[in-house]
Amino acid sequence: MAFTSPKILLRRLGLRPKKAWGQHFLLYPHQAQRIVAALDLQGNETVVEIGPGLGALTVFLEREAAKVVALERDPALARFLEEELFPDNPRVRILCRDALAFDFRECSRNAARPLTLAGNLPYQITSPLLFKLVEAKAALGRAVFMVQEEVGDRLLSPPRTKDYGVLSVLMQYHFALERIFSLGPGNFYPPPQVDSVVLRLTPLEAAPMARDEALFSRVVKAAFAHRRKTLNNTLVSRAADFGLTPDQLRAIFTSLEIDPIRRGETLGVAQFVAVSNAIVEAGRLK
Ligand code: SAH
Repeated sequence: MAFTSPKILLRRLGLRPKKAWGQHFLLYPHQAQRIVAALDLQGNETVVEIGPGLGALTVFLEREAAKVVALERDPALARFLEEELFPDNPRVRILCRDALAFDFRECSRNAARPLTLAGNLPYQITSPLLFKLVEAKAALGRAVFMVQEEVGDRLLSPPRTKDYGVLSVLMQYHFALERIFSLGPGNFYPPPQVDSVVLRLTPLEAAPMARDEALFSRVVKAAFAHRRKTLNNTLVSRAADFGLTPDQLRAIFTSLEIDPIRRGETLGVAQFVAVSNAIVEAGRLK
């Protein structure tokens, strides 16, 4: 099928790009192809696409995957995809849904293998979606997402940098993250205010294992709740939230050779894992 520019397509459909839904459509098929290529599809995957829009990525996914489930919140776009772009295509399912309300685990039960994910993500939902994926990790295989460059920096940044935060720690714990390439605003209609970056996420099997991943997340969130506070003020003073006394938590930091006058942002992923595992252990000895 010949490529029609998003501007012309939208005009024909009588639509305007909706800012509130982060609608910035890829202008060039070869960029869409590069994004899909980063998934390295073998032909047996079920791919869930977040925000297919006018189908820029979807047409390439359809060629290379066994099945595509595309979650598009905008009913007008979902109708276009369903009725015009992929009519009667048994391998493409267009669901008019909010991706944040989608049950990835349930969907994966009907697939032969973990779900592959793709999407040029609407920037409003990026963080909540990534947190949701952390929770659904067991159902997921590889993912390739385009995000705002700034979010990409946050995800990839190491300790002791201004971008390092809860999302960096949790994502780096669960996934190997790779920067694939960047795209400037001129690649989209309408052009966004910011640069974008394509990331590949591969779930880590042999992660630095947290024995209780929910507790691990709570420790990380508490440590970053007030960026400028020390571990004494974020974690030790809130020891009761973790079922311990402040002295017990201080002893944990001592045994791990972490000075509690440090800030949370100085701890690496493995140190957060060690702290949360020690809390599990101390709770058990009580
Ligand atoms: N993949 C297309 C469009 C990207 S724009 C392209 O690259 O050209 C982001 C798309 O996500 C839009 O189509 C928007 O309507 C859709 N969207 C926004 N919020 C969403 C949500 N919560 N769930 C599903 N889709 C959403």
